[in-house]
Amino acid sequence: MALSEEVKQQIQQAYRDVLAGKSIRARYGQRLMIAEIAKYMGSIDDNDGQRTSPPATCVVEAGTGTGKTLAYLIAAIPVARALGKTLVISTATVALQDQIVLKDLPDLRKHSKLDFNWTLAKGRGRYLCMSRLESRLHDEGHGDSDTMPLFLLDNPQDGDAADKATFERMLASYGSREWDGDRDHWPEQIPDETWRQVTTDHRQCTNRHCAYFDSCAFFDARKELEDADVVVANHDLVLADLALGGGAILPEPENALFIFDEAHHLPDKALNHFAASVPLNATRQWLKQLSQALVKMQPWVPGGSQAAKAIEKISTSGRDLDHELTRVYEEVEQNTGWEFNEERRSAQWRYPEGELPEALAALAADTRIVTAGLVRQLGVLVDELQTAFDERKDPELDRDTAESWFPVIGSFHSRAEEQLRLWAAWCEGVSAPTEDEKAEEGASPKRYGPAPARWAVRQRWDHAEDITLYSSPVLADNLLYSRLWSRAYGAVLTSATLTALGRFDRLRARAGLPEASRYMVVPSSFRYAEMATVEVPFMAAMPTDDGFGDALIKRLPELWAGEKATLVLFTSRRQMQQVRDALAPEYPELILTQDDMARNEVLRQHCSRVDEGRPSVLFGVASFAEGIDLPGKYLHHVVITRLPFSVPDDPIEASLAEWVTQRGGNPFMEITVPDASVKLVQAVGRLLRTEQDTGRVTILDRRIVARRYGQLLLDSLPPFRRIIDYS
Ligand code: SF4
Repeated sequence: MALSEEVKQQIQQAYRDVLAGKSIRARYGQRLMIAEIAKYMGSIDDNDGQRTSPPATCVVEAGTGTGKTLAYLIAAIPVARALGKTLVISTATVALQDQIVLKDLPDLRKHSKLDFNWTLAKGRGRYLCMSRLESRLHDEGHGDSDTMPLFLLDNPQDGDAADKATFERMLASYGSREWDGDRDHWPEQIPDETWRQVTTDHRQCTNRHCAYFDSCAFFDARKELEDADVVVANHDLVLADLALGGGAILPEPENALFIFDEAHHLPDKALNHFAASVPLNATRQWLKQLSQALVKMQPWVPGGSQAAKAIEKISTSGRDLDHELTRVYEEVEQNTGWEFNEERRSAQWRYPEGELPEALAALAADTRIVTAGLVRQLGVLVDELQTAFDERKDPELDRDTAESWFPVIGSFHSRAEEQLRLWAAWCEGVSAPTEDEKAEEGASPKRYGPAPARWAVRQRWDHAEDITLYSSPVLADNLLYSRLWSRAYGAVLTSATLTALGRFDRLRARAGLPEASRYMVVPSSFRYAEMATVEVPFMAAMPTDDGFGDALIKRLPELWAGEKATLVLFTSRRQMQQVRDALAPEYPELILTQDDMARNEVLRQHCSRVDEGRPSVLFGVASFAEGIDLPGKYLHHVVITRLPFSVPDDPIEASLAEWVTQRGGNPFMEITVPDASVKLVQAVGRLLRTEQDTGRVTILDRRIVARRYGQLLLDSLPPFRRIIDYS
């Protein structure tokens, strides 16, 4: 659709109105970004609302200070409305989601003449399920008292009196409409184990058959979503929806224009969503629970009915599966080259190239067949229970039994399905592109990916031991391409760090972006060379030397002396704690460690010390290197103790490195260094949050000047003034 004059006018007018309304001046980068997104959206061809042009995305790297949220909202809202598509904005963090919903969207509507509404989308698990709440509060009914212990099995700490009191308050508050059933709107923090008892998932929900359907918190929120012009979601929710086929929670991708903010997280999040695991002993325990549940259910099921037959078959499959799991456990336990890490009390074994030993592959194939049978039979039972909700069908089961047992069997069914995903992934060969995929116009030519990573972890506790089997795709490219990019009407990806070493190659490969995608780096408005320095001082030890920890302990106090607000970033918790333990007694009331208390509280205490004119030094690891925002006086010095190379024993990274090596590449230069550069840029990005900020970054890892790749990493940083000791 070429952008109509009217839509162009709306975008331009909205920008002028917001600038005037907020008394701010236009930013060059922001204007570029608005134009780029509008141009991209205008380049999508369609026929009657169906995209006809090849899949394409618009990738915009825009640093701090660009005002990128306003840019994409102003560009995309008028276009989405003109097209009749829903604008889905997806973030990686709750903080950004809140900022968009509570500040950016209200601001835009207030200051522009754009007419739009929005809502925040959350997964079903964030909402109260009245049906479960009722069962937790009232043990009455012939099935409920029997099913109750099952819920408690999900919750080993058991639902005590405190939980019951909370549930009663929830009922009163929801009933009087003071509370909308959204976990995040409850006045106190609800512990996960408490909340789990009163929420549900798609397998346990009886949907229209539920007695509470008309007043259901989740379905009320869904209705709101259907009417919204803008839906604010997060990457996990978008991926969960895609895993359910797309359109289950959010609008169908074909009817959505997506904006992925913090898009650099999307490939890793996608890997998590399509990974699978099965703890062998824990699954055997779970089978016992299943068997107990069936015994308790049996008296409520008429003999000879379909449900009774399904119960019989589930019991048999459960026994068979228990037998298979025992065999798999013995095989993996005895024929794996375990090397225990005594500190973690665990050992990990990755199967090179995802290749399973023959005996294990045969066992996995058997287990897959048995698990598939269990899933099928549980599905039959779920269907039978569902039929009981439909009076027109003359069901064999009575409605009360169905209401009591549907959530329980539904929960077993979804757990069995999760297990089947692992066994299916363990039996799968390397996926080659299908004929359809090959024929797909605009499809990325890179369709042959690495084999899935497969690994096992053996964990010891005082009186128990378990082996968990894992599988994960190594690249999310095909998954994202086939489920998202090839279906979406359009998608924009943005973040402050999308390039690695100055190129988009890493993102393109990991996210499987379509060939026709367009890329842009928005120039920053910061005068970096005047605002900050990057310093690499002399250090007596390299990070790989034994004495590095001691060298840090000696050096850090010199570095924070005279500074009001310093952030020291570590790559390992252990080293952070070692340095803290050595220095904290000497510097009381100075160091705050990320682990000392909840993150917001750590940041609050840091800021209040600075407000009181006292110096404060924050110690943090990876999550502080990316997710914190300390503008102005709250951060003046960032110390990077070590270059952020990824952990060498990560099985997914190791599988990727193996694949790159097989193809004749150099995994260190192709994966490790670009990954480190992204993390380093994120860490350095903590320093300057506004155009008025100033400060310095000190890098204590001398490899940045002593190794060949160091120059690449230095050059990927913003152009701060450099002060480097080359001695
Ligand atoms: S409709 Fe589903 S989520 Fe809503 S109350 Fe009923 S069972 Fe729970």
